[in-house]
Amino acid sequence: MSVSESEGAFAVWTDEQRRPSTAGAGRREDGESATERSEQSGTAPLLNATGIVKAFGPTKALDGANMAVHAGEVVAVMGPSGSGKSTMLHCLAGIIQPDAGTVMYDGRDLGAMPDQPRSTLRRTEFGFVFQFGQLVPELTCVENVALPMRLGGMRRREAEAKARDWLGRLEVGDVASKRPGEVSGGQGQRVAVARALVTGPKVIFADEPTGALDSLNGEHVMRMLTEAAKETGAAVILVTHEPRVAAYSDREVIVRDGHTRQVEFA
Ligand code: ADP
Repeated sequence: MSVSESEGAFAVWTDEQRRPSTAGAGRREDGESATERSEQSGTAPLLNATGIVKAFGPTKALDGANMAVHAGEVVAVMGPSGSGKSTMLHCLAGIIQPDAGTVMYDGRDLGAMPDQPRSTLRRTEFGFVFQFGQLVPELTCVENVALPMRLGGMRRREAEAKARDWLGRLEVGDVASKRPGEVSGGQGQRVAVARALVTGPKVIFADEPTGALDSLNGEHVMRMLTEAAKETGAAVILVTHEPRVAAYSDREVIVRDGHTRQVEFA
């Protein structure tokens, strides 16, 4: 598979300071909007979604949802299955267009951007990690991690050197030459995390990144993802229904019946 053929598969992509795993303990819950809070704290959010409405036929997945994310923070998006978490993530990443509401990224209105620049922005400023990794099966792990840079025009040698460096940082340097089908679930997810981080994105979107892993591997992936993000300054938007995964976040946004509620650590 050539690099350009791989683009279709790629285009969709959408601290050690552990919090107590009793999610909810020591957190403040209120109806104040994220925008109001960021105005009070005086810093503009990097990503700001306001009044998001999205329906699929008769199903209203989101109904006036709000969410702001600041540079470098890890935000868990929590809620029961079917509550609208993934839809929120896809709207925030500009993968799907909301029916109403606005998503602003770094001063730009994602909904007002033409497809091509929005797609370029996703490739250069955003990183994605999904539940099943979504690595390209025909490519080796190092080629998978190098792919976003190759799509950006980087030469193979340089891209693969960077990819190997990231695989080593995530402690999966030894699987560089293997194909995704030949590595374990935990290794595959760490390769996917390397691929998400290699371009130096400002925001990592992670949709149930540990959903297919046992708890030990899940913890390992979460620790590596959040440590690497803190190191590079990337914000992480983490969709999960597991409190033990959300415990790696700085704060939570609860989605229920298409509405959002902000939860902060006290
Ligand atoms: P969650 O991530 O919290 O499980 P989702 O955002 O995936 O929830 O889904 C919210 C609601 O929207 C659900 O009722 C789901 O069935 C529906 N939905 C999501 N995506 C689609 C789609 N592409 N087509 C039809 N219905 C959808």
